[in-house]
Amino acid sequence: MVKAVVGANWGDEGKGKITDMMAANADIIVRFQGGANAGHTIVNNYGKFALHTLPSGVFYGHTTSIIGNGVALNIPILINEINSIVEKGVPAPKILVSDRAQIVMPYHILFDQYEEERLGKASFGSTKSGIAPFYSDKYAKIGYQVQELFDEDLLKEKVVRTCDQKNVLLEHLYHKPLLTPEELLDTLHEYRDMIAPYVCDTSAFLWNALKENKTILLEGQLGTLKDPDHGIYPMVTSSSTLAPYGCIGAGIPAQELKQVVTVCKAYSSAVGAGAFVSEIFGDEADELRRRGGDGGEFGATTGRPRRMGWFDCVASKYGCRMQGTTDVAFTVVDVLGYLDEIPVCVGYEIDGEVTTDFPVTSKLEKAKPVLKTLPGWKCDIRGIKKYEDLPENCRTYIEFIEKEIGFPITMISNGPSRDDIIYR
Ligand code: GDP
Repeated sequence: MVKAVVGANWGDEGKGKITDMMAANADIIVRFQGGANAGHTIVNNYGKFALHTLPSGVFYGHTTSIIGNGVALNIPILINEINSIVEKGVPAPKILVSDRAQIVMPYHILFDQYEEERLGKASFGSTKSGIAPFYSDKYAKIGYQVQELFDEDLLKEKVVRTCDQKNVLLEHLYHKPLLTPEELLDTLHEYRDMIAPYVCDTSAFLWNALKENKTILLEGQLGTLKDPDHGIYPMVTSSSTLAPYGCIGAGIPAQELKQVVTVCKAYSSAVGAGAFVSEIFGDEADELRRRGGDGGEFGATTGRPRRMGWFDCVASKYGCRMQGTTDVAFTVVDVLGYLDEIPVCVGYEIDGEVTTDFPVTSKLEKAKPVLKTLPGWKCDIRGIKKYEDLPENCRTYIEFIEKEIGFPITMISNGPSRDDIIYR
């Protein structure tokens, strides 16, 4: 059986915590898209970790962690991450890397920086991890698949072609130092030696696991609104963040996906540029940012302050719909305990008309939030284990949002740890 944990919004919904928790009952956890540009923060008995490439299941002895074919694989970052968790006392995880995954090359990272520099004020707010240049090359069919590292004749010839192609842009568009085939080949040899112990046909491995009735967890990165097709294009990421894509990015049959847990945060946050209708500013935002998440709403990879906003029912209803949600996990509810009243965005006003349907980007830019204010519960709800024991105003908040988004909230997260969870 295959389950997915994905985000409804702009990312940072707390997917890492939910995956880590659900991994207790899973055999295999798969990363299926994205790269080391975003991170998951996980708090468990070994400490606090920010993972960028490893799936959130690496802390359990019983799980296999897979880097699927859909991932933008940064080999040195992966190896550093494995070493860093082992150094902190976590038992060496079982990790498999798809022989069809493609490799983030050092020049992808450079091109990402150079392009943001060139765009200046019009930049995308990229994390400069090379993800957009990487996926561009993948679909332009000039990327490097992991399996190619083991074909020396192919590599020798391909590095020349790569340098010819990239150097045109380096010289004439960016005015930066050129690449040489020798240097590139050396890098690829280093990558080959680093990754060799982990490489296999992961889709065959997963197929066999399915035949043995194993439980597979697909771990998404970012959220619906960052999907290149269904998100706030062009302020999106470069690979699909949707659960159905998990089947492609892992290499498993789509009909095996039985449960889609979409993670929604009790308020909103976003990183990077782009329309954010329920955004708040000033002291109100600072306070929520400071109290948010586990130690404040700052990027796990970049440390940048996140943009803050009230819960957005319009974006979340759409976000859940596009994921094919079976369950909503509603997170960081504990953070809102300080507020007397909690505004919620229940509609968008666009050109004088109110809608609850999430619009295309050009209309989104014009949208103004329609807010409804709900009473706060003014207490700390951490440690509560039963839904009935939550304060009435807290249950009212949850049930109001459930009705607005139209998908069942079956899990409520009231703290950062694995067992801060209320099942409903
Ligand atoms: P992800 O990328 O979706 O995994 O999300 P992040 O890791 O960026 O952000 C989630 C942050 O909130 C992390 O610091 C988590 O430890 C923390 N967190 C997750 N769930 C809860 C919760 O229910 N309450 C609180 N206070 N923090 C939470």
